[in-house]
Amino acid sequence: MSATSEVPFFNYPHVFNADEEQLTKIFVDVGRRGAFIQQHDMEDLEARLAEFVGAKYVLGIANATDALHLAMRALGIGPGDEVLFCSHTMVATAAAVHFAGGTPVPVECRADHLIDPESVEKAITPRTKAILPTQLNGRTTDMDALQAIADKHGLDIVEDSAQALGSKFKGRSAGTFGKAGCISFYPAKTLGCLGDGGCVITNDDEMYRKLKQLRDHGRADNGEVEMWGLNSRLDNLQAAILNQKLDIYDEAIARRRELAAIYDQLLSDIPELTLPPAPDSHPDHFDVFQNYELEAAGRDELQVHLNSQSIGTLLPWGGKAVHQFSALGFTQKLPYTDQLFERMLMLPMNTALSNEDVEYVCQSIRKFYAEKQQADAA
Ligand SMILES: *Cc1c(COP(=O)(O)O)cnc(C)c1O
Repeated sequence: MSATSEVPFFNYPHVFNADEEQLTKIFVDVGRRGAFIQQHDMEDLEARLAEFVGAKYVLGIANATDALHLAMRALGIGPGDEVLFCSHTMVATAAAVHFAGGTPVPVECRADHLIDPESVEKAITPRTKAILPTQLNGRTTDMDALQAIADKHGLDIVEDSAQALGSKFKGRSAGTFGKAGCISFYPAKTLGCLGDGGCVITNDDEMYRKLKQLRDHGRADNGEVEMWGLNSRLDNLQAAILNQKLDIYDEAIARRRELAAIYDQLLSDIPELTLPPAPDSHPDHFDVFQNYELEAAGRDELQVHLNSQSIGTLLPWGGKAVHQFSALGFTQKLPYTDQLFERMLMLPMNTALSNEDVEYVCQSIRKFYAEKQQADAA
C-alpha cells in the first residue's frame, strides 16, 4: 500500500463507489418496477429496522429533521410547552420543537459531550413537557438518569438518535427508550443513503398511528383524511438502497469501533488531548462512533496543522452550540458547553478509512504537540 497522503474528513463518492455494482442494480430494479413511493422496499426496511433495534414500529420518514418535527407534533407539543434539549446538537433538534409551536430550552452537556441530567433537572418549569436528548456521536446517554427525572416530573422523552443507530445503553438500542426516537440516513451518517432519508422508531400504538398519518397528508389506511398532515415519506428508492446497506451494517459498526480503538491506542498518552470514551471502556455503553470528537489544547492551531498535512477535520456544528447562534434568540448561559466549543475537534471517522490513514492522522497530531513543546521550551 502506498503512503497515505490525503485523508478527507468524509469521502462522499465512497458511499456510492464502495458498492457501485449492487447499487446500480437496485436503481434499475426500482426504476423498472416504477416503485417510487411507499412500496414494499420501504415496508421491508421498516420491518428490518424494527427488528434490528428491538422496537414495535419503525416508519420511514423523509429525513430525521422531519421525523423529530412529526414526533413533537404526535406528542402534542404546542404553544406554551417547553422541551429540554442539549445545546451540543444539530440545530434541527431545536427546530423540531420550534416548528411544532413549542419552546426549545437548551441545557448543558457533560464530560462525554452528551446531555447533563443535572442541568435538565435545573431547567424544569411548570411548562416543561418533554426531554429531547441527543444520542450524540453514536453514544446513548445514561437513560436511567433521564428516565428517573422524567418519571419524577411527569415528562415525556423523545430521542434525537439521528447519529446512533445500533448504539446501546445497558443492552437496549438508541431510539427505543422514549415515546419515539429519530434516525437519520444522511449520506455521512453511520447508515447513509444516497440523499436525504430518516425514520422514526416507536413502541407506542397511538404515536405510531399519528406518525403514519402525519407523514402522509393525514390519511388513514383507507384514504380518509383524519387530521392535518404533511408529505414526509421516505423515498422508496432510498429505502431499497438502505436495505442493501443494512445487510452490511454490523460490519460497518465493527469497523468504526476498530478505528476508534486505534485512535485511542495511538493518542491516549498525549496530555493535551481529552479523548472520547474508548469502545468497551464502560459495560453500560455500546457506542457506534458516528464521529470521533476529542478535546484538544491549541485546537485551532492543531486544525491548521492537520489541514496543512491534507487531513480533513471539522468543528462540531461549524463551531457553535445551538444556544450560541444569536439569530435564534436564546438567553440561557451554558458555560460548560461554551468552553467545550473552544476545544472540540472531530477527526476523520468513517468506513472509507484504512488503518494507515488513522495512523497518519495520529502521527501528525503527535508531531504537532512535539514541535509545540520544543517551541515552548526554546
Ligand atoms: C444529522 C442530524 C439530524 C438531522 O438529520 P437529517 O436526516 O439530515 O434531517 C438531527 N440531529 C442530529 C443530532 C443529527 O446529527
